[in-house]
Amino acid sequence: MSFSDTNRTPCPSLGERSSVPTGRLAPSPTGAQHVGNARTYLIAWLSARSSGGRVVLRIEDIDSPRVKAGADRQAVEDLLWLGLDWDEGPIVQTRRMEEYASALAQLKKQEFVYPCTCTRGDVERAASAPHLEHEGPIYPGLCAENTVATAESLGDRPHCWRFRVPVESPSFVDGFAGPTQIDLRQVGGDFVVWKAPRPGVSESTPAYQLAVVVDDAAQGVTEVVRGDDLLASTPRQLLLYRALGLKPPSFVHVPLVVGVDGRRLAKRHGDTRLSSLREAGVRPQLLLGLLAWSCGWLPSIEPIAAQSLLPLFRLDSIPPAPFVLTPELLRTIGYG
Ligand code: GLU
Ligand code: ZN
Repeated sequence: MSFSDTNRTPCPSLGERSSVPTGRLAPSPTGAQHVGNARTYLIAWLSARSSGGRVVLRIEDIDSPRVKAGADRQAVEDLLWLGLDWDEGPIVQTRRMEEYASALAQLKKQEFVYPCTCTRGDVERAASAPHLEHEGPIYPGLCAENTVATAESLGDRPHCWRFRVPVESPSFVDGFAGPTQIDLRQVGGDFVVWKAPRPGVSESTPAYQLAVVVDDAAQGVTEVVRGDDLLASTPRQLLLYRALGLKPPSFVHVPLVVGVDGRRLAKRHGDTRLSSLREAGVRPQLLLGLLAWSCGWLPSIEPIAAQSLLPLFRLDSIPPAPFVLTPELLRTIGYG
């Protein structure tokens, strides 16, 4: 894959960066980007740019069984179509395996992690407490007695590496959701930082939680703006920042876009892929107008460019409830 035709620029030196607020766009090429992703990217981009900040782009492609061919390039085209730009990147996670491996080695050195041989079935059978659906069951600690040295006696037995969650989970003040306290012992428990080899993936690979921390730190990110489905990832990432001796960014979790049934935007709600809107001839400025209206920046849906939204941007006008995208709204912007 080559991104040579996008606006790639070299990374500034660390010293140059440290004072500049930096936001990021981090698409996963596990599928097409849709209207919901566009809303989050717009908010993230405006938040960084309206404070004179930099924007970095990262392709989060380590979840290899789920990555779709060409979805990385498509995501870049979608962002450019929306009129969003960036100063650095794209950096591509699958090209940064050494960085993640060295972070894991650092965690091992200090016994922050332990090897776990449980299968998904083992965890599900042993976990009894109720759990948040998208967070999965609470890891019941079956392997928590293991130490880093145990891994040597495991031979060929596939194992992942889990971070040992402390009694007190870090609390934080979210830029949108406010003061947030999530007890990780009640949400997921000891979490995976490095995945075991799976069918179709012979290599063990870093988990999202570790890769995102290593990358946000390496790219000088000072502000993470993302969907509120990732709220419970933040205390995990704060633990990793602390364990790796890195300075954490601030976090802003914004409401998602849902369909009329109140569920997260997906295929069942019809085709809301940005590439489909583009092919149908929808003007990006009209989609931006719809999104800006949904965030309380415009009194009605009218075409507007991303740049023109800079003076109108504010977080506190965004309704806390998810934004319900209806077929009528899509028709308003000439789609469907
Ligand atoms: N790549 C993730 C996604 O597209 C975002 C992860 C993050 O923002 O930390 O959902
Ligand atoms: Zn285990």
